[in-house]
Amino acid sequence: MNNYKTTTFLLSAPDLEYLPTDIGNEVAFIGSSNVGKSSAINTLTNQKFLAKISKTPGCTKLINIFKISLQCRLLDFPGYGYAQVNKKLKNIFQHRWNTYLQNRQCLQGVVLFMDLRHPLRELDKHNFRLVTDHNLPILILLSKSDKCSRELQKKTLHIVRKYFLQFNNSVQVEIFSSRKRVGIDKLQLTLNIWLGRKE
Ligand code: GDP
Repeated sequence: MNNYKTTTFLLSAPDLEYLPTDIGNEVAFIGSSNVGKSSAINTLTNQKFLAKISKTPGCTKLINIFKISLQCRLLDFPGYGYAQVNKKLKNIFQHRWNTYLQNRQCLQGVVLFMDLRHPLRELDKHNFRLVTDHNLPILILLSKSDKCSRELQKKTLHIVRKYFLQFNNSVQVEIFSSRKRVGIDKLQLTLNIWLGRKE
């Protein structure tokens, strides 16, 4: 069982060659800019300022790496798909993400965040396919659920589950809110399984 409270910031990598040596276990967090990944990292680790929360979408271009334990890391990839991120940058992101998925031996699973109010964008679907094509497990979190009514949460969960289950019957989709700590247990449990795999 990993203790996420002792997670520390390791480094910000401008590109894949700056990543730590490919040993141990890693999980990757991906999603559109501003989807709430940094907030999720802070809630998961019970630390207010571990990951930088941004009000301006699309400004992080670095891969932020957090050390959970000696050989366990969490990689926070730059947000993709925001309208203000230009096409060239989107392509760079996608190419880098694809290369990482293809080559990274220590990657154990991917957490894909989608804003509950704007799910199933083209890049979400595309990146989901990339992850499952590499036979990696994926957890999909519908973030900022506290901004929506229970009815909308239930309805969206149903639609999103139905969509992804047609491609992969082991995909997990959950409601998530850092603000209300909804879905944190599920996230922790999943990371425990993925990161504990080779320990
Ligand atoms: P990132 O770009 O994906 O890392 O997103 P951030 O974690 O920086 O969050 C972007 C914005 O959404 C910030 O203003 C956060 O305060 C807000 N936010 C993040 N998570 C939640 C949540 O669970 N509920 C609400 N209401 N706002 C959130």
